[in-house]
Amino acid sequence: MQNNKRTYVSDANFILHGGDYSPEQWLDRPEILTDDKKYMQLAHTNAFSIGMFSWSTLEPKEGIYNFEWLDEIFENIHSIGGKILLATPSGARPAWLSQNYPEVLRVNEYRQKHLHGGRHNHCFTSNVYREKTQKINRMLAKRYGDHPALLMWHVSNEYGGECHCDRCQVAFRNWLRNKYNYDLKELNDAWWTPFWSHTYTDWSQIDSPSPIGENGVHGMNLDWRRFVTDQTISFYKNEIAPLREITPDTPVTTNFMADTNDLIPFQGLDYSKFAKYVDVVTWDAYPPWHNDWETTADLAMKVGFIDDLYRSLKQKPFLLLESTPSQVNWHKVNKAKRPGMHLLSSIQMLAHGSDSIMYFQWRKSRGSSEKFHGAVIDHDNSTENRVFQEVSKVGETLKKLNKIVGTNRKADVAILYDWENNWALNDAQGFGMETKCYPQTLQQHYRTFWEKNIPVDVITKENTFTDYKLLIVPMLYLVSSDTIARLKSFVAKGGTLVMTYISGIVNENDLTYLGGWQDDLQEIFGVCPKETDTLYPRDKNYVNYKNKKYEIKDYATILGLQGAEIEGNYEEDYYANTPAITSHIYKKGKAYYIGARLNEEFHEDFYDRLINDLYLNDLSIESPKEVSVQIRRDSENDYIFIMNFSERLQTVNLKQEIRDMITGELLEGEIQLEKYGVIVGVRSRQ
Ligand SMILES: [Zn+2]
Repeated sequence: MQNNKRTYVSDANFILHGGDYSPEQWLDRPEILTDDKKYMQLAHTNAFSIGMFSWSTLEPKEGIYNFEWLDEIFENIHSIGGKILLATPSGARPAWLSQNYPEVLRVNEYRQKHLHGGRHNHCFTSNVYREKTQKINRMLAKRYGDHPALLMWHVSNEYGGECHCDRCQVAFRNWLRNKYNYDLKELNDAWWTPFWSHTYTDWSQIDSPSPIGENGVHGMNLDWRRFVTDQTISFYKNEIAPLREITPDTPVTTNFMADTNDLIPFQGLDYSKFAKYVDVVTWDAYPPWHNDWETTADLAMKVGFIDDLYRSLKQKPFLLLESTPSQVNWHKVNKAKRPGMHLLSSIQMLAHGSDSIMYFQWRKSRGSSEKFHGAVIDHDNSTENRVFQEVSKVGETLKKLNKIVGTNRKADVAILYDWENNWALNDAQGFGMETKCYPQTLQQHYRTFWEKNIPVDVITKENTFTDYKLLIVPMLYLVSSDTIARLKSFVAKGGTLVMTYISGIVNENDLTYLGGWQDDLQEIFGVCPKETDTLYPRDKNYVNYKNKKYEIKDYATILGLQGAEIEGNYEEDYYANTPAITSHIYKKGKAYYIGARLNEEFHEDFYDRLINDLYLNDLSIESPKEVSVQIRRDSENDYIFIMNFSERLQTVNLKQEIRDMITGELLEGEIQLEKYGVIVGVRSRQ
């Protein structure tokens, strides 16, 4: 899959600015399409995703095609120097397709067959749907593959969900047969099926997990989620086959998502697997700015975490494929971005590795479900309103920042995120049912580095560990012996590893390790966790670490010492005065174990020591916590992004001179940054 020709930067050496453009909604209003062309230039936009919801316009009746309108749109965009990310239309299908081929309709976990409607609701296994999508994709590739405006393939839209139809059941059973070597005993062993008398005696007895059927076999739940990821990737691979064949040099992507309720990575698919099959990672970011439950800086930290995860999936720049210039229409409260926030939130994306700022959508729909979703052009069709003006300002600004395209950065710190671990932890009936909060826990560890302007890669187990000085693996509940061996080798070679409570408990089948903590883990950490106490919200206990007291929340693991040094002790209860935090030298490296869930103050003090000990990256800029400083680099220059995620004036201290890429000014020493203010500066490393 790795093909250097397919880095989109070879085709575009400018930051992409634009968004989802849906001219098919306006084909009977030619004056609107004329305005679009004019306004695209006024907004300083240059790239548009087209066609993801236009199947019923492209093929109004089965086998009857209508591409002429799209030909014209290609010419319009090309005539203003714009680029096109041409979408394949599988995300929403025409009514005739569902009517003629009911097998494409999805069946939910209650085994109810869906009706036609909505979007993202097809069966990923259906041969008919696979044939139909491949056919239309082939026609698009043949017709537009050589067009100079074509930049990239935008495959489908926000893949997600699962289907439980009979075809998917057969596919699941076949997937299991392959995984367990056609040996039902192997499956029964892995799933621990004698519990509750669940032993399978024939493959045909296996049905996907359901709220009205089997849902307590954790090994099965985990395998089902893995299957859903694999089946979605298989559908995607089927979609891209004609694109690879006809346009081998045009990069291919599909837009990833985040879970926006709490701004954590998307839970439905394992993107660490999916990322291998896209040429560039792209995602849709919709943070609820200005919400009433967290500060702007808290939310910005979470956005940074997801950016750093999605960038690290391929260790190269990503693209922001959707965002809103103002508000969305599907949060509980859809608040408008305050003046300045659009520029700030856009610069943040670039700071963490995006080479684009794209919106959903270019023009607000007149009707239907997203008619109030923020867009560049509002229903007033005016370029005078605030939102258009802010978009235009972002467009002007981006033109001054094109040198950052393709630049990456080197981080010395990595935090490990694992989708399978998250699924297994959430499934585990134990600990605190509502307090596991795995992604949120990682974000709390990430916070200290974000506040201190130290670059972090949020990696997955697919990444190499040895590139980092410090690797943090909080709550790694599910861990295979292979990953344990890699962690061991990381420390042996000189790395510093931090692990926490509820780690190393189950193997890749969600079966607990027997006979105590794995020997390799005991060897690395010099401790053996004995039991984990779960605390009620009102329970009080503390850890004394370096003569300072820190409050414990939710979890406290009691440790048996096996050579580790005690860094902190518990203060109360039956485990008072026993070790809570330990460190251990293992070969050339060092391993820390944090037994309890501790607060922000602890993380700050604990990681401060490691930052000093390990001489972690210093950007030579002092800033308050709410001002985030991020860096991108090329062979000669550092590109520095300074962003004020607070509602007040802040002062930063630049210890080295930088040139402001937006104003051209040279900046050094104490600089003031207004509310939501940004500076993007460049300094040479020569
Ligand atoms: Zn299905």
